[in-house]
Amino acid sequence: MPNIRLAIVGLGKIARDQHLGAIAATDGIDLVAVASRNASLENIHCFPDIDALLASDVDVDAVSLCTPPQGRFEQARAALMAGKHVMLEKPPGATIAEVFALEALARKQGVSLFATWHSREAAAVEPARRLLAERRIQSVEVEWKEDVRHWHPGQAWIWEPGGLGVFDPGINALSIVTRIMPESFHLVSSELSFPANRAAPIAADLEFQTASGTPIKAAFDWRQTGPQTWDIRVSTQEGDVVLTHGGSRLIVNGEAQIVEEDREYRSLYKHFVDLVSSKRSDTDFSPLVHVADAFMLGRRNVVESFED
Ligand code: NAP
Repeated sequence: MPNIRLAIVGLGKIARDQHLGAIAATDGIDLVAVASRNASLENIHCFPDIDALLASDVDVDAVSLCTPPQGRFEQARAALMAGKHVMLEKPPGATIAEVFALEALARKQGVSLFATWHSREAAAVEPARRLLAERRIQSVEVEWKEDVRHWHPGQAWIWEPGGLGVFDPGINALSIVTRIMPESFHLVSSELSFPANRAAPIAADLEFQTASGTPIKAAFDWRQTGPQTWDIRVSTQEGDVVLTHGGSRLIVNGEAQIVEEDREYRSLYKHFVDLVSSKRSDTDFSPLVHVADAFMLGRRNVVESFED
């Protein structure tokens, strides 16, 4: 099969930090075009937006959408209607209904749709999943606390409706928990802290339980300065299974098992090449469903205004 000719849409932080390098390092896929209003790359076809790209005579087989979630639906829809395979950054959309509509459209068009969850590709996730399948789980505690000023400088969209606020990183934790837990779970309580001047929460305290009653607590906070915390602690009758550093390290019964370099985006692009060549899609929207539930069941507390 010839290499997939790919266009990136939205050449912003994550496209530059991760996508460009991962595409270059992946067999079977080549970057041939970019569609971005304010950014371009040398020696690549560049367009101001996806409509201009799709109307051009540059041949692309697939697009990777690296834009904010608000507005992503129209871009994905246009690409699918034009018969292109589509890879979506997380979160896959701004609403639940729109992502299911994209899934249906991809099926109808006979092209691949990949709703990516980069944190699921972290080194400790699959080993933890296999381990937990064999253990008796008592409780889960998630702590996902980071400094928004450091990680999202000047990103206005993240504070707007659909930008998800602290759930932008928090959904990464949920993408891991939904992957490693042997049982499904659902939300039972949600406390959301909204800065007085913002439309999205800066912190969230969530409680879930599994179908058999195992409690899962999650604390997301964007006000953490100093050391950053991206940890998931699973207590089991056979001892603790702990994922730290966003899922890249695994500690089992107090002993470090895995410390690995970051390969998340290379794994995503390898999987996308496999999906396209085998004419399949990968669309697990469960992390987004939990976030929507957190807004639906959330008690809203107003906290101090946030200034960049
Ligand atoms: P970003 O730096 O703001 O980049 C997004 C790019 O999309 C912008 O540079 C912009 O390029 C384009 N864009 C198109 N319509 C836009 C609009 N209405 N508002 C703002 N930008 C618009 O954001 P990002 O951090 O790369 O995040 C993009 C997506 O990747 C999000 O879904 C995020 O959750 C996900 N993600 C981010 C990170 C991270 O560490 N930052 C990590 C993993 C995943 P033009 O102005 O040139 O059009």
